Amino acid sequence: MARAVAQPSWPGGAEVCVSLTFDVDAECGWLGKGDQYAARLTTLSEARFGVVRGVPRILDLLGALSIPATFYVPGDTAERHPGAVETIAAVGHEIGHHGHMHLRSDRIGADEQRAEIERGLAALESTLAVRPSGYRSPSWEMTRETFALLGEYEFEYDSSCMGDDRPYIEEVEGRSMLEFPVHWSLDDWPYFAYSGEGGGNVNNARDFEQVWLDEFESARRDGRHLTYTMHPEVIGRGYRIAALRRLLEEISGRAEVWFATHRQVADRLNGAGAG
Ligand SMILES: [Zn+2]
Repeated sequence: MARAVAQPSWPGGAEVCVSLTFDVDAECGWLGKGDQYAARLTTLSEARFGVVRGVPRILDLLGALSIPATFYVPGDTAERHPGAVETIAAVGHEIGHHGHMHLRSDRIGADEQRAEIERGLAALESTLAVRPSGYRSPSWEMTRETFALLGEYEFEYDSSCMGDDRPYIEEVEGRSMLEFPVHWSLDDWPYFAYSGEGGGNVNNARDFEQVWLDEFESARRDGRHLTYTMHPEVIGRGYRIAALRRLLEEISGRAEVWFATHRQVADRLNGAGAG
């Protein structure tokens, strides 16, 4: 079940609010799928590209446009690439929880789900001295057990579910959580991700830009908040980061946009009397 949240006005008279979110899956995005990936050096190197090339390009772009963003970081990524993750936090972007080994909640037991939450928290604390207030489940799969753990560990909001296209309150078995909804159409992965055996897409980036621009116009008409989701190894390829730059420049030119982290939007919603 779900409850609506009162939609606030946005700061500075902005017509629409946009959150850019980046899931820094890196190697554990594959290693969390099974031990067989540990031997696949090419696959792991593509994942590593996200940290080596994707993150610096993203940070350069966000810095040039003065846009704050939310990065959902698995604990394993923080431990494996502490320097890269520190550069994200050092310039003021929000760090959120994204599991530890990127294990899908629905494929592991209750004890492992708890371990994913605890190990992820410990890794972000030890590498960044950060206690995240936001959570995004690996591969956007959530179970009742994980939802209950979010309350137990005092997360303030989640960004994994799809029950609305406005922020809302997700309710499961008497527990509730502020939700920043996501959707596959607003994720870079379905447009561009490709693997040798699984196939996928190597799309014209103009198609991706057009869909995201059309959704922006819908959000603008509604005056609502919109979350885009990206992965550094996907959006960080040269021609794709150029597409993201064009998109951000285009929407900034069309409307007064409040680009905000999930933390900032949560604070705004709470200030507006959200439940
Ligand atoms: Zn992920």
